Amino acid sequence: MATANTIGPFLGRTRLAYFSMEIALHPDIHTYSGGLGILAGDTARSAADLELPMAFVTLISRQGYMRQEIDASGVQTEHADPWDPPAHATPLRAKVAVTIGGREIWIRPWLHVLCSAIGQTIPVLLLDTDLDENHPDDRRITDRLYGGDQAYRLRQEIVLGIGGVRALQALGFDIQRYHLNEGHAALLALDLLRRHPRPADQVNTGEIMYDVGYVRRCCVFTTHTPVEAGHDRFDYGLVAELLGNYVELEQIKLLAGADRMNMTHLALQLSGYVNGVAARHAQTTTRMFPGYRIRAVTNGIHVATWAHRDFAEMYNRRFSAWAYEPEVMVRADQLPDSEVWDAHQRAKQDLIELVRMRSGCDFDPEVPTIGFARRMTAYKRPELLFSDLAKLTAINDKHPFQVVLAGKAHPNDTAGKHHIEAIHSHIETLKGRVRVCYLAGYDMTLAKTLVSGVDIWLNTPVPPMEASGTSGMKAALNGVLNLSVLDGWWLEAWIEGVTGWAIGEDGAAQASADHLYGKLQDAVLPLYYTDRSRWIWMMKQAISKIAYYFNTQRMMRRYAAEAYLL
Ligand SMILES: *Cc1c(COP(=O)(O)O)cnc(C)c1O
Repeated sequence: MATANTIGPFLGRTRLAYFSMEIALHPDIHTYSGGLGILAGDTARSAADLELPMAFVTLISRQGYMRQEIDASGVQTEHADPWDPPAHATPLRAKVAVTIGGREIWIRPWLHVLCSAIGQTIPVLLLDTDLDENHPDDRRITDRLYGGDQAYRLRQEIVLGIGGVRALQALGFDIQRYHLNEGHAALLALDLLRRHPRPADQVNTGEIMYDVGYVRRCCVFTTHTPVEAGHDRFDYGLVAELLGNYVELEQIKLLAGADRMNMTHLALQLSGYVNGVAARHAQTTTRMFPGYRIRAVTNGIHVATWAHRDFAEMYNRRFSAWAYEPEVMVRADQLPDSEVWDAHQRAKQDLIELVRMRSGCDFDPEVPTIGFARRMTAYKRPELLFSDLAKLTAINDKHPFQVVLAGKAHPNDTAGKHHIEAIHSHIETLKGRVRVCYLAGYDMTLAKTLVSGVDIWLNTPVPPMEASGTSGMKAALNGVLNLSVLDGWWLEAWIEGVTGWAIGEDGAAQASADHLYGKLQDAVLPLYYTDRSRWIWMMKQAISKIAYYFNTQRMMRRYAAEAYLL
C-alpha cells in the first residue's frame, strides 16, 4: 500500500534509477511475468532495506501479463489480468510526451511507494499512457506486459526508456547513474546520448556524433539472456517508422548493429559497467559478445520476502539481524534439528492444503514431495522427469514420492503450451500409480508456497540456457534441497550430498533422464526414507551455505560498491 503519495521526500536524495520492463512489487500489482520481474522486485526491496538512493521505473501494465487457465486436457488459455492502480499508487501531476510514429504520446507517471520489511521506503514510477489526450491505440501501449507484436513492444520500450528518463527529469530528479535491467530499457541510453552531441568540427564521417563516453559513465547494464535469439531486435524499417529521426538511423546502426536494432548491442555499447547474472552466464556472454568486459554479479533473492512464516519466526529467534544482514545465516548449520523439521512440516502442510484446494489432489505429508515450477518453455525441459513413465513408476513403487508442477507458457510459445498438455496427459497415464498434480496460475504467492512446502526442488534446463535461476535460492532459504542440472547459480552453490544434488556432471553436454532417475532412486529418495537426520543436516547445510550468500542484500551491496560507484 502507498504509505506516502508525494515524490517530495525522494527528490533530493535519489541518485540512481533502475529501469525494468517488469517488476514484482506485490502479489496484487500485476506488473511482472516471471524471474526478471521477481529479481527487479527483490532488488527494489533490498535497495529500500539498505537505504540506497534509488528510484525504480517500469510500465504500469494495467492489464497485467496474463491469467492462465488450463482445461482438463491441459490446454492453456490466456486472459487479461488487470489490477487496480489507485489501490496501490498515486497519479503524479507531471506529464511528459514522446513522439511515436509521428504522434505525440503523453505519459503520466504514477508513484508506488515500496515499503521494505524493515520500514524503509523507495519510489517506483509506473508509466501510464491511458490518458484522454492520447489516441485510443496509444492509450493501450502500457496495457499488456509482453503482449502484442514487435511494433507494440517497440512502442513500450520507447515509453519505458525515453519516457522514463523524461519523467524523472520532469519530476525534478537529479539522476547520475542508470541501471538497465535487460535490453528492454536500452533506449534510455539512446536518450542520454541524444542530449550530448560532440562538437561538429571534431566528428569525422562514419563516426558517432555523440559523447558515448559520457553515456557510458552513466549506465550500468545487466544482461539476462544467454542466447542470441532471446535478445530483442527490431527491423530498421519499424525503427524509422516509430522513432522517425529521433537519432539518425545511421548513428543507431553504428551502435545497435547494421541489420537490425539489437537492444543488447545498444546497451553494451552505451554502458560502462556490464554484468551477467552468474559466473557461468558472464562467461557465456563474453563468448557471445567478444571485446566487452562482462563481469559477474550472481543474482539473489530478498530473504524476508521468500522465507515461509515459520522459517522467518525461527530466523527471528535465532538470528535477529537476518533480514537486513543475511550473512548471519552462515551459522544455520547450528540450528536444532527439531526446529528446522517442525518449521518445514508446517510449510509442507500449507502446500498440501493449497494443492487440495486448487486441484483436489490429496498429498501425503509423510511422502517426499518434488516441486517443479517455472516458465513452461522448451529449454527448461519440463518433461524430462516424465521421459520414461515405466521407470518413474518403478522408482515410486520402491520409494514413493509425489510431484507438484506449475508454470505459464508465453501466449506465443507453442512448444511451451505443448509441454503443459503433454504433462497433463502424463498425469492421466500415471493416475493411481504416481501422484502428480499441476497447478494453474504460477505467481509470487503460489511460488512462495511451493518453494517452501516441497522437499525437493527440481530444475532441468539445457546448459547454458539458465542464466542464473532464483527459485532454487528461495527453496534453499526454506531448507528445501535442490536437485538440479549444473547451470546458472547452482554451479556456485552445489556441493554434492551437502547442499543438494547435481543431475549429470558439469561440462557433460546434457544431463539426461537417466541421470535424473539414477540420482532420485540411488541418492535422494533413499536418504529421505532411511536417514532422516542426515536429511535434516543437509537442510541446514543448504540454509547456511546458500541463503547467507544468494540474496539481494549481498547482490545490492556489490552493485553499490562495484557498479554504481563508478
Ligand atoms: C522466483 C520466481 C521465478 C524465477 O525462478 P527461476 O528459477 O528463474 O525459474 C519465476 N516466477 C516466479 C513466480 C517466481 O517466484
